[in-house]
Amino acid sequence: MSIAEIFNSMSYGPAPESETAARNWLAAHKGKFGLFIDGGWTKPRSNSWFESQNPARGEKLADIAAANDKDVGAAVAAARAAQKDWLAVGGHGRARHLYGLARTLQRNARLLAVLEALDNGKPLRETRDIDIPLVARHFYHHAGWAQLQEQEFAGFEPMGVIGQIIPWNFPLLMLAWKIAPAIAGGNTVVLKPAEYTSLTALCFAEICKDAGLPPGVVNIITGDGTTGDALVRHPDVDKIAFTGSTEVGRHIRKVTAGSGKHLTLELGGKSPFIVFDDADLDSAVEGVVDAIWFNQGEVCCAGSRLLVQEGIFDKLISKLRARMENLRLGDPLDKSIDMGAIVAPVQLAAIKNLVKKGTDEGAEIWQPSWAVPKEGCFYPPTLFTNVAPAATIAQEEIFGPVIVAMTFRTPDEAIRIANNTRYGLAASVWSENINLALDVAPKLDCGVVWINSTNLFDAACGFGGNRESGYGREGGHEGMLEVIKPKFLAKLPDYQTAAKAPGKRDATPSPLVSLDRTAKLYIGGKQARPDSGYSLPVFSAKDVKIGEVGDGNRKDIRNAVEAAGKAVGWTTTSSHARAQVLYYIAENLDARKDEFAKRLVETTGVTSKKALAEVDASIRRLFSYGAWADKYESRVHSPPMRGVTLAMKEAIGTLGIICPDENPLLSLISLAAPALAMGNRIVLVASETHPLSATDFYQVLETSDVPGGVFNIITGNRDLLARTLAEHDDVKSVWYFGPKSGSELVEAASAGNMKRTWVNNGKARNWFDMEQGEGREFLRHSTQIKNIWIPYGD
Ligand code: NAD
Repeated sequence: MSIAEIFNSMSYGPAPESETAARNWLAAHKGKFGLFIDGGWTKPRSNSWFESQNPARGEKLADIAAANDKDVGAAVAAARAAQKDWLAVGGHGRARHLYGLARTLQRNARLLAVLEALDNGKPLRETRDIDIPLVARHFYHHAGWAQLQEQEFAGFEPMGVIGQIIPWNFPLLMLAWKIAPAIAGGNTVVLKPAEYTSLTALCFAEICKDAGLPPGVVNIITGDGTTGDALVRHPDVDKIAFTGSTEVGRHIRKVTAGSGKHLTLELGGKSPFIVFDDADLDSAVEGVVDAIWFNQGEVCCAGSRLLVQEGIFDKLISKLRARMENLRLGDPLDKSIDMGAIVAPVQLAAIKNLVKKGTDEGAEIWQPSWAVPKEGCFYPPTLFTNVAPAATIAQEEIFGPVIVAMTFRTPDEAIRIANNTRYGLAASVWSENINLALDVAPKLDCGVVWINSTNLFDAACGFGGNRESGYGREGGHEGMLEVIKPKFLAKLPDYQTAAKAPGKRDATPSPLVSLDRTAKLYIGGKQARPDSGYSLPVFSAKDVKIGEVGDGNRKDIRNAVEAAGKAVGWTTTSSHARAQVLYYIAENLDARKDEFAKRLVETTGVTSKKALAEVDASIRRLFSYGAWADKYESRVHSPPMRGVTLAMKEAIGTLGIICPDENPLLSLISLAAPALAMGNRIVLVASETHPLSATDFYQVLETSDVPGGVFNIITGNRDLLARTLAEHDDVKSVWYFGPKSGSELVEAASAGNMKRTWVNNGKARNWFDMEQGEGREFLRHSTQIKNIWIPYGD
């Protein structure tokens, strides 16, 4: 090309990055990698290997060990052996190690950037300017949390050994998101990278060695889903942190149910990119480029559904097509390309398959006129219009450079379409009217919202989703709370059921109650007969039949969930108003103190003094959550940009709460009050053995201005009701406090819509104890955090 021609076209020439450092590193390992266990390289016991390929050229890069369950066992054993000493190093000691890792990562930034581009196919421009700087930032930031741990997280301890499984789209960045918080918190880890992209994780292993990290703190094992499965099932792993597809996440939820393993799941998405008619359209077009063509669209939070206000649709689409025509796709190591290669042939085939489905279903496809390279795994940027909201390509995650565009008329319609998906990871909102953008953001059911921006990430800000995008947050203060746990949990005694063998019971009526009155269920603010028409006997502590309660069934749960679903006013009302109702409940309970105490004496056999103490503690607790209602405040994160990130603590929605037998009044209040204070609506299953405190309680609710549907009470068979709640798609979270088997049942049944769970794993709490029975742990389970990014300036 002549200089005149270059000036005429103003197009970039090739600007290839040198591969030498990465090739030398591969050669130093003779192109073959073992497993990194206990601070050194070991040959896999499986004696099995697989190839890692460069998807842009279809060439083999290295042979990677395929770990089997014995290898997984060795890695977990090394992590377990190292954990005590790692904790003993202390917060400052760990901070120094993380700082050292961050420095070593920065020194090797170029090698890592090239290696990542070779192995994954993503553009070097992105690995160099986004992935690797964020990796280092993650270790710096978490060095800080390690340093501050003793003050900021007093009363917490590490989970122990954490098994971590990551996908291939941001190999080193996902590793950093997982490893930095975990080891900062005093845990040791076994991490498995995705089978297509193991190389930077193996290079990181070497960096750990060079940086002097004690052996066993970080163990890297490679392999496919079989290796991941062995890690998930290993009995000596305390927590699994998984990022990947919803399908595998669901499988992991089922496999770990009842094991006591803590679980965080960062899963798939189908995130909306909403453009209002007053948006700066040129900025929005650049936003779309970053939303869906960054990393070839292989981004969990990619803005893959473009929702455009009707009046500007044609204009935006024509600007977008012009921009697409100018995108450059090619060799990932060429510094002037916008898009690189798709990670592997199988992913390319999956993209093509879904695109074909889109055209088969009648959507209109548009691709730029230029052709993609014939060799290697490439796919062009693709735009679909004329897409129905229910079309496969509007609902399924494509995980490639394909965006579907739809229109909306009003903000309400935009929100409805945006939320019309089983996922709930992220959203991007474009409008020059900040009032409108900030009004829309809280109404989007997802974990991250970017205002006039997209795909922003930082170590200080939590990231994670709602619904089938998983649960848990990674990054920032909220992310640290996913790798540590309250110390008292390890010391809790086993749960004891209060039920006695039926044979010993005396069915003579008690003089205290009249048997013609069966306590009803409480649904939608009204007393309701159970659908079954049956009731269950209730016995006193002396085994005398003292009454009956409704035998609730699936239908009753469904009615209660429906009533709770309609009571959205409770969530949108002010926290002050909710506090007033909680205080009013306390006041009315106080007025009937003696009656409630008498009931406790009768049903649980405690002394009058103890019963009165339980009622008093319940009243105090209601006051506490009246107080907390407007004091469990959101945070403002400060990522390194001109702007803020609001970490909003939001209500979760409809919660199912299964109460224990211990202290039937106090435990009920301890669980219900925080959920209500934070704006959730609840369906509460009363203690199976002592349900009368709960059924007496609805008389208090009736006189306390609690709106109908906010607080529903069901009595009956605990496990049947728990299962129904856990399986119900409109229930967003289930709390279970009962026998151990119930924890397993609830966790397994929750996998349907990937709802959150909080279970007691067969342990009993002392509900009088301030640490075990009240406070931030309860409030944390009552809320989900949404990070709203608001950049400043033009
Ligand atoms: P994947 O679920 O197929 O694999 C992810 C990881 O899980 C890999 O390491 C894989 O080997 C392992 N794995 C597979 N089967 C397993 C099993 N039965 N037990 C244990 N581990 C198993 O996902 P992928 O194709 O590698 O990644 C793409 C998916 O990841 C997309 O759905 C994407 O949205 C999601 N993702 C989510 C986030 C997030 O933060 N929410 C981030 C990146 C990617």
